[in-house]
Amino acid sequence: MATTALKLAKLDGKPEIFHTLQGEGVSMGVPSVFVRSSLCNLHCTWCDTDYTWNWEGTPWTHETGVKYSKQDYIVSLEPGEVARLVTSIGKGCKNVILTGGEPLLQQTAWSEMIRHLRALDPQYRFEVETNGTQIPDEFMSEAIDQWNVSAKLSNSGNDEKLRIKPDALRYFVSRENAWFKFVIQTAEDLTEVQQLENDYAIPKAKILLMPEGRTETSLQQKRLWLADICRDQGYRFSDRLHIQLWGSKRGV
Ligand code: SF4
Repeated sequence: MATTALKLAKLDGKPEIFHTLQGEGVSMGVPSVFVRSSLCNLHCTWCDTDYTWNWEGTPWTHETGVKYSKQDYIVSLEPGEVARLVTSIGKGCKNVILTGGEPLLQQTAWSEMIRHLRALDPQYRFEVETNGTQIPDEFMSEAIDQWNVSAKLSNSGNDEKLRIKPDALRYFVSRENAWFKFVIQTAEDLTEVQQLENDYAIPKAKILLMPEGRTETSLQQKRLWLADICRDQGYRFSDRLHIQLWGSKRGV
């Protein structure tokens, strides 16, 4: 059977696959192997993985003003090879997180990688970090254990038509194993979250609010303010554990 190569982010000349603790969301703190795909259909101005999409010669803007050479930041690998790297880098860790970029742009290739890993050990567990704009195919719907859906608000700088795809959002709301994480900068963002919560009937208990920030200093400025809001309004709070532990260093 022909295979479809996975386009992964490249870090220090190697595919960005690393063994660490899940830093955000409902599995925060769980030992995990991250596999970072390249490419994204959105272009958030504060994105902390803009090396997956903000190529030289494209019109997208980012708050850092930095552009990336596509050939220096993408590597294509066969799904079987990615599975082999997950087993060797993960040293037995069975919680695998497909992230990006937007991983659901490459569902066929991920499906092949998942088949390889589950053939080795059915205990492998998969989480997907998605922006919630793509509907998973049948295989992915069945195979993924946890959807971490981070639908984007207007603070991301994306046009609403691009960042909110009603059919995709309804799909995730219908799934027991989906959680909704919103990146919060200001009080206006909370009004948008409440609107989405009402429009799409997202259960409040499945909504996590997370302060925006790529450094510990910027997170600290919003953390206590947002924690109080979560307590008073019944949302779950998510920190960014990896920033606390390792700052903005990649691949840890
Ligand atoms: S959706 Fe995620 S990966 Fe894509 S630009 Fe926004 S923050 Fe970055």
